[in-house]
Amino acid sequence: MTPAPIVELERCLARLPGFGRRSASRAALALVREPARLLRPLADALRAADDGVRCCTRCGAFTEAGRDPCGTCTDETRDGSLVCVVEEPADIVAIEASGAFRGRYHALGGKLSPARHFGPEKLRFAELVDRVVREGVTEVLLAVSTDMDGDATAGYAAEVLRGTGAKTTRLAFGLPADSGIAYSDPLTLRRAINGRMGF
Ligand SMILES: [Zn+2]
Repeated sequence: MTPAPIVELERCLARLPGFGRRSASRAALALVREPARLLRPLADALRAADDGVRCCTRCGAFTEAGRDPCGTCTDETRDGSLVCVVEEPADIVAIEASGAFRGRYHALGGKLSPARHFGPEKLRFAELVDRVVREGVTEVLLAVSTDMDGDATAGYAAEVLRGTGAKTTRLAFGLPADSGIAYSDPLTLRRAINGRMGF
């Protein structure tokens, strides 16, 4: 009979991306077998992430608690005329890892889903238009996923940005269909960003 706390640990781990039930079980058993080396440092890191990670109110990227706007928003060496629109803050982490983008970001908080009745009022489109106008942005790179919902999201963004005078571009093809930006490798992302084209 497995003790209840281990069952609960397995259940939590199994919800993480990349974990199946078997790997969650293996990880849980490894953790409880080595509390000093594995379990307690993980527990501390989880607590620190919970206490210390926030989303920037300007761009939506992950930032440290107490640092808002985030480092990217306040970095004067970055090109403020270029904004990359993504779905989630995790996408920003992936694009930063590619090293191919030196503008600023705007995370929408998801993507449109006409099938699930998830409409534009639930995403940060109004904030995007406001920023493009106020910050004098001249190019908006739409780095959203390549599935149907991603296409709907890019189309809507291009439409609401039309009146701002900013040019909208999209990533070049090369990202696998139905894969999020966050799971793309740095080289693929770099090619997609460098080869971006008008929308
Ligand atoms: Zn920010």
